[in-house]
Amino acid sequence: MTIAAHKTETIADEPQELLRRMLEEKFVAQTNRLTELTIRGRLPGHGGYDSHTLDILSVAARQAIADTAHALRRMSEGTYGLCEDCQRPIPLGRLRAVPHARYCTRCCRHCPD
Ligand SMILES: [Zn+2]
Repeated sequence: MTIAAHKTETIADEPQELLRRMLEEKFVAQTNRLTELTIRGRLPGHGGYDSHTLDILSVAARQAIADTAHALRRMSEGTYGLCEDCQRPIPLGRLRAVPHARYCTRCCRHCPD
């Protein structure tokens, strides 16, 4: 029988390097995606997508690139993993699921991410 540790894991418990790699991979993937969508938009018939769908996908890719770049910038500034609202550490479980998270779960009730 194990004793459950009632401790909230934070960013300090895991090398930030792993999350940085996830963010960098996402940044590259979304940049490639946006390039692909831009190329499709120029093709006759938009490569099978209607222009409305292409717009939605492009906006989503641009947003993901912006979110990821923001998170990487915060890493280089040393503020990554802290809630931008209450300044408390964002739980690691949340960062693993959403590496670009800017707010803790509590503050995120009124944030877009
Ligand atoms: Zn917060």
